[in-house]
Amino acid sequence: MPDTEKPLLIEARLNEWSLRERNPHVPWTPEEIADDAYACWQAGASIVHFHVRNPDGSPAHDVELYARVMRAIRERCDVLIHPTIAGVVTPDPAARIAPLARMCEDSSSCPDFAPLDMGSTNLDAYDAATRSFSTEQKTYVNSIATLRYLAGHVQRMGLKELMCAWTVPCLRTVDAFVHAGWIRDDPALVCVVLTEGGIQGGHPGTPEGLLSMLQFMPQRNIEWSVCCREGNLFNVAGLALERGGHLSIGLGDYAYAELGAPANAELVRRAAELGASFGRPAASVDQVRTLLGLTREPAPSTAN
Ligand code: ZN
Repeated sequence: MPDTEKPLLIEARLNEWSLRERNPHVPWTPEEIADDAYACWQAGASIVHFHVRNPDGSPAHDVELYARVMRAIRERCDVLIHPTIAGVVTPDPAARIAPLARMCEDSSSCPDFAPLDMGSTNLDAYDAATRSFSTEQKTYVNSIATLRYLAGHVQRMGLKELMCAWTVPCLRTVDAFVHAGWIRDDPALVCVVLTEGGIQGGHPGTPEGLLSMLQFMPQRNIEWSVCCREGNLFNVAGLALERGGHLSIGLGDYAYAELGAPANAELVRRAAELGASFGRPAASVDQVRTLLGLTREPAPSTAN
């Protein structure tokens, strides 16, 4: 299918660890996350990505909380689900995968995707006004051993890897993992992570930043999307649509104050409208299942 006729996969990145001082619509509780996921699905999202929170918005790592969110989403709709790996960032891959394994003991709380960040990078933000970094130790460590371990377990659980590429070396690692047979490109799914807001660990959230990544996209069977941490994704969305890419957007990445601090569903609606204007209407969940070759049976849903 020519890139320009491919339906548009929209992933709604609901919350990450965002607080509400810049946008009050960030969902925290299981009910809020599930309601937001449903609204995004209605607006054209086919995948939702979320992190679970305590009632005050602080990061939570509770497996049962993740399971509650997944069941609540599936009571509402059939959107594909991509949780973080239970919010645990630790060098120990067994600890990172354990919550996901527990969730998948029950098919009603087993997600469709698991994230793999295909390299290590610095997440500290530089503040030009103060000529300093806000932090100096936020290194996100993903060794080859960890990635290989996680990829193996994710496949055995029947989930699809959603591989995040912050830099060209991450893309080269994707290529190596496909070549080694550790990741299947049937097709593989890669999210290009651009970074703004002073974060130096990714390419800039500009057309040049995206193009420099695309030059090194592995010559494999790959579907790719793009997100922008701390920046407005619409600055590169048209380019991504032209090049056959997909869009991963939401308040988890950026508050979108210049658009009036909208809710996630409004961002998804804008992305869907932009896609339609490029002849690429928002893909349905079934279209995404076909596009990505998802073979795992849809999780039982209690939605009508
Ligand atoms: Zn996340």
